[in-house]
Amino acid sequence: MAFEDLTGRFQMALRRLTGKAKLTENDIDEMMREVRLSLLEADVNYKVVKEFTEDVKVLAYGEKILKGLKPGEQVVKIVNDELTKLMGEETSEINLKTNDMTVMLMVGLQGAGKTTTAGKLANFIKNKHNKKPMLIAADVYRPAAIEQLQTVGQQLGIEVYQEGLIDPETIVKNGLKYAKEQAYDLVIIDTAGRLHIDDSMMDEIQKIEKLSKPDEVLLTVDAMTGQDAVNVAETFNKALNLTGCILTKLDGDTRGGAALSIRKMTGVPIKFSGTGEKLEDIEVFHPERMASRILGMGDILSLVEKATQEIDEEEALSMMEKMMTGKFNYNDLLKQMKMIKRMGKFSGILKMMPGMKSLGNMDKVDDKQLEYIEAIVGSMTEEERKKPELINRSSSRRNRIARGSGRSYSEINKLVDMLEKQQTLMRRMQGMNPDSLQNMAQG
Ligand code: GDP
Repeated sequence: MAFEDLTGRFQMALRRLTGKAKLTENDIDEMMREVRLSLLEADVNYKVVKEFTEDVKVLAYGEKILKGLKPGEQVVKIVNDELTKLMGEETSEINLKTNDMTVMLMVGLQGAGKTTTAGKLANFIKNKHNKKPMLIAADVYRPAAIEQLQTVGQQLGIEVYQEGLIDPETIVKNGLKYAKEQAYDLVIIDTAGRLHIDDSMMDEIQKIEKLSKPDEVLLTVDAMTGQDAVNVAETFNKALNLTGCILTKLDGDTRGGAALSIRKMTGVPIKFSGTGEKLEDIEVFHPERMASRILGMGDILSLVEKATQEIDEEEALSMMEKMMTGKFNYNDLLKQMKMIKRMGKFSGILKMMPGMKSLGNMDKVDDKQLEYIEAIVGSMTEEERKKPELINRSSSRRNRIARGSGRSYSEINKLVDMLEKQQTLMRRMQGMNPDSLQNMAQG
């Protein structure tokens, strides 16, 4: 999972502050030293790190913070807000024309995920914005690239325009004309990627940019390449009018450098993230949610959004409200598990949730595990389900539940632990970004 190390270290640094009644500048300095090191180790650009730590310090040193209520929590909020700012503050919307054909140009180095992402993006916009997309295969230096785009197109039921290995400008010109004739309202052009940036590559893309007048020029960058991704983005941004970038492979164990440096260093907004090899694995990039994810607060908003797509909206929102107030009991936990089961993609979604790691190896969380949780909750009395603290205090109750469900005592403990962690983290989140959470809960 992306950002794992960074999250662990951030949490350690911040945990030392939370719960303290008073903070000194020394406490802040110590915490920031740790934060600084973890960012550098996550391959975040040193200039970005320097500025970030200075900004956080200035804010955290504030009289109101040091002497205020819950100073540690306030500092966590500052770190969260500054991380959000680094990544762009607001979510950057994709630019779509309403009455005319929208053209998007995909650029990037070979292997960054450009071709896959072109397909993912076409499909995402088709479904989300009700557009009729067509893809143009203008990567003429690798015959396999055209085939690959065609395969992607076939899988998605999206037409791919290609003319083989002729001059890419001609392909783009003809492709755009064809798309107009066929009344497509979105064209995504897949251009050639090279292993390294070279002048002839840039020349060619500049020509294509000029003739296709794109509404979006999107750079696909591999998040795993860390600071290199920033260099790539800077070079492309000098030659082209980049309107956004798409960070791919955020599902891998990227250390986070690219996600945290690109926006600040280049000014180019991150618009989407690639989160897997499958064609539906693309998400709008929300800086605020990413910041919470990095801080280990779990990406609750994305979870709820996914949930509401798949299941009853009211059920999901009442769950969200319960989570936010920390009044989350075993009935809710079971409901939540069932919702997640209906959503499929079990382990991917679970990983976003705070406290879920206590269940053990997340990749192995499956239907069987859900069955066990069901058995455990099924062996609790209604009162115990509603008042989890009854179980927390009593080992005889745990023993009885273990016997009743046929699960081990330590499994019961794990579940108790999981619920507790969720409750605490939810309460902590509640103190962090109330406005946005509230907006989300209200739809
Ligand atoms: P291109 O050379 O830039 O066109 O890159 P491709 O689209 O061929 O992708 C290169 C490899 O990266 C392929 O194996 C893709 O399946 C993989 N890939 C692309 N995006 C993602 C992503 O978001 N996550 C993961 N895990 N793999 C990805």
